[in-house]
Amino acid sequence: MPITKTSAKVDINARRVINGADADVIQLYPMKHHWAWEAYNVGNANHWLPTEISMQKDIEQWNSPTVLTEDERKALKTVLGFFTTADSIAANNVVLAMYKHVTSPECRMYILRQAYEEAIHTHAYQYIVESLGLDEGEIFNMYREVDAIYNKDAFILSFNEGIFNSEFKTGTFDADQKFLENMIVFSLVLEGIFFYSSFAVMFGFQRQNKMIGASEQIQYIMRDESQHLNFGINIINTIKEEQPELWTPEFQTHAIDLVKQAVDLEAKFAAEVFPKGIFGMNAEGFRKYIEHIADRRLARVGLPAQFNTPNPFPWMSEAIDLNKEKNFFETRVTEYKVGGTLDW
Ligand code: FE
Repeated sequence: MPITKTSAKVDINARRVINGADADVIQLYPMKHHWAWEAYNVGNANHWLPTEISMQKDIEQWNSPTVLTEDERKALKTVLGFFTTADSIAANNVVLAMYKHVTSPECRMYILRQAYEEAIHTHAYQYIVESLGLDEGEIFNMYREVDAIYNKDAFILSFNEGIFNSEFKTGTFDADQKFLENMIVFSLVLEGIFFYSSFAVMFGFQRQNKMIGASEQIQYIMRDESQHLNFGINIINTIKEEQPELWTPEFQTHAIDLVKQAVDLEAKFAAEVFPKGIFGMNAEGFRKYIEHIADRRLARVGLPAQFNTPNPFPWMSEAIDLNKEKNFFETRVTEYKVGGTLDW
């Protein structure tokens, strides 16, 4: 938009996640959505790159005829089949839908950080595929060939259609609800549910001391993803505060229904790609775990639990909690130079 020459200062109260009244999206201050700035700083503090993690042991294990079972090999390839394209879908959503319509500069700062993190995640999968010498055509095309992955991706992409349309604009009741619906599907479903059976499989490897480089990368990714999810939830909850009229009983029912559809899709994915179960997790266990996390996602946006299923994989919370421990960086190959260390 064109700028107007004026000494009038930006009105902080006009700042909104979407539909900021005098949407000055260039001035970071005065800041209103401090949670976004905090998320940006956490993202920077958590910076990592896939190539810092050694894949040597993984390569030996992958090439050994005795370390991994056939089922474990298939499981690793299938979770990579899902992961390799999932973060590209996420990146598109962040850059092409969120950034465009979000009118809070501090939120946009985090969105830029998140977009880069999605690229790092896709890089991590590429690095694993390349290190292990897997067939790229097989792994990267799996989302179009394997029903269980295709169905999840098709579900997400169907909600992108309206919002990716160049005509789409927020500012009407229907459009704003559409934006909110996209955030529910993107944050709660894609980032909050669809990654989690695959995360559980990778931590299954880690618990067996197998494919530790690959599973460590996934652990970094899960740490980033939990921040993405927090940010998405803050976006949703702040829009609810700023535009409470959008959060109608019908919309809440619709949001719950979307999450329930996602639980089914994710449970089917786990049952189809790990038909015999893996690392002691069977189809029933996966479904319970997915139901458990779905209830937690719903609670974060103030919606009632639908399943009340206890967590069948309590070690998954430990894997997540580990992310907060200082030792997490112990295995890193390189350290970052922070500030002022450039030599000329
Ligand atoms: Fe993400």
